[in-house]
Amino acid sequence: MNSNPSSPVAGVLADLHCHSLCSDGQLSPSDLVDRAVEMGVGMLALTDHDTLSGLAEAKLQAQKYDIEIINGIELSCVHNGMGIHIVGLGFDETHAGMLAAVALQEQRRQDRAITIAERLEKKGAVGVLDEAKRIANGGQLGRPHFAQALIDMGKVTNMAQAFKKYLGAGKPGDVKALWPDLEEAVKWIVDAGGVAVLAHPDSYKLTRTKLKLLLNAFTQAGGRGVEVVTSTMESSFTQRVSELCEEYGMLASQGSDFHGPKPWTELGRFPNMPSQLTPVWSHWQ
Ligand code: MN
Ligand code: MN
Ligand code: MN
Repeated sequence: MNSNPSSPVAGVLADLHCHSLCSDGQLSPSDLVDRAVEMGVGMLALTDHDTLSGLAEAKLQAQKYDIEIINGIELSCVHNGMGIHIVGLGFDETHAGMLAAVALQEQRRQDRAITIAERLEKKGAVGVLDEAKRIANGGQLGRPHFAQALIDMGKVTNMAQAFKKYLGAGKPGDVKALWPDLEEAVKWIVDAGGVAVLAHPDSYKLTRTKLKLLLNAFTQAGGRGVEVVTSTMESSFTQRVSELCEEYGMLASQGSDFHGPKPWTELGRFPNMPSQLTPVWSHWQ
């Protein structure tokens, strides 16, 4: 099925960005692994937001199959006032610094959730924190949980509206001041022996000049990878970021950013990585 010429082993499809119930995904880590296998994925990184809590279950489930689980995480951070996501891959999940960092991120995420809830309550969404917690079902609280809570409470009719009115950039629920600087987040990953990958570079809506400034800061901090293929990235952007990936001598990564069964994303479903790039898995193989 996979014809990616830069696959680690011929025929192995790598999906290095997805989410489980442990953050804002819809499937348990076990169900996620089952589905990845069904979709023909042979190398999977579970990259839940700011938590490692799904890794053990994913690895246990993977023992049933011929699928390799790469340690992963998606860290939230800030650069020049802009929220940036960094995917960490192939790090030591027992590294003391990483464990401390994750504990800090979990605390920051909880604090952020309380601030989001306070702001949404001021907009009339009374009880939104409990509703979001019920939806998250023990997972790390994120904006999608608040969006679903607002839908369930009848404040909005759909996710897009929830983000447009309450949670998107510049709206009351857009709280990011608590996140660490990009440099700090990259250092956590690198110190734990992993590769730091700039996630979905198309999502920041940067001009070429500003994207280069971001890549300058990211690589100076020790970041080595960049996502060049995702489920939703336009092919013209893939071409643009692939040129920058080569120019900066970076490692190329790919992933679905799967959160749950949706028409537009599926595990392992994205275009092939441009063949001239050095794939990120060359770092740990
Ligand atoms: Mn998410
Ligand atoms: Mn992200
Ligand atoms: Mn993600």
